[in-house]
Amino acid sequence: MHILTGLRGRAGKKASGQLVGLAIAAGWALASCTLLAETDPNAGLPPCVDDACNCGDFRDQAQAQQVLEAFWGDPHQLDRDGNGAACERLLALAPPLEAETYFSNSAHVALGNPSRAAKVNPANYLIEKEQYVLGYSRDRNTLLWASWWLGPDWLGASRRQDDFRPDGSLPAGFYQATPNDYTGSGYDRGHMVPSADRKLSDRDNSATFLMTNVFPQTRENNRGPWRELEEYCRDLVYQQGKSLYVIGGIYGQRETLPNGITVPSRIWKVIVVFDRLDPAVADITPRTATIAVDMPNSRQLDDRWQTYLTSIDRIELATGYDLLSAVPESVQAELEARH
Ligand code: MN
Ligand code: MN
Repeated sequence: MHILTGLRGRAGKKASGQLVGLAIAAGWALASCTLLAETDPNAGLPPCVDDACNCGDFRDQAQAQQVLEAFWGDPHQLDRDGNGAACERLLALAPPLEAETYFSNSAHVALGNPSRAAKVNPANYLIEKEQYVLGYSRDRNTLLWASWWLGPDWLGASRRQDDFRPDGSLPAGFYQATPNDYTGSGYDRGHMVPSADRKLSDRDNSATFLMTNVFPQTRENNRGPWRELEEYCRDLVYQQGKSLYVIGGIYGQRETLPNGITVPSRIWKVIVVFDRLDPAVADITPRTATIAVDMPNSRQLDDRWQTYLTSIDRIELATGYDLLSAVPESVQAELEARH
């Protein structure tokens, strides 16, 4: 039932913060000016170049090489041996996106299945739950991305259940990560779908504590700009009467925990902001507000999430995914180029 409520919510009362909302929307509309996108000198490069790249941030050697050649003096130290080739230990060229073979009915992927995850390839495995949908990797033992609606229908008075536990729904042959795998690792058990985004019932909230929705996140990220953005999103819903479609994901390799859980090096989120509580894909226009961030999973971060704003195009470049693939191509192109 809940899966559909995000698409068919009640008609909203005008929120008192509507003027503020309009001002913010106007700001976003201005920012959508293609001139800005075209003058972003890093538009064709992955988001890590905006702070600091490591070899573990790249999909393949070709991408690392592109970054090496884009800057004078190798500021990201990708070619330490100085032979002109960046990150030579990486795969030469990452494989392209798989063909789409599985079409989920879940509203949580109504705007598209970013990695075309299905039920066959364990490295790109689709997990559908009432509360959210995940792309999951048996190789990494973590999610790849999560997608979920956030509107008033999902919020309520349920208490935080805190019942972190293995996800018994994983198919045979998948390792079921446990809460203890993170104990002493130096990383938080980071939620992708936040606990506070699923508060209508204890059951909904509990679903966010399945370890398939959890990844190793630095304390500084989890309790810093990442949490600030999560709270900003809920404010849009609570105070401005918006409903959101959220896609969050992780990529790259910072290190691997002893039990084979990959610690990602980057964390991203794309949010589509709807003025209505019962939005449809057809409501999305080139002027629809979006937020896209890509942050390092590091120990030193700016507390402001706005520092990590980027374009959806650049997240697609870094991950190899096609985000918002259900949105008509021309609208998608405009939304995604925007910074
Ligand atoms: Mn968190
Ligand atoms: Mn796209």
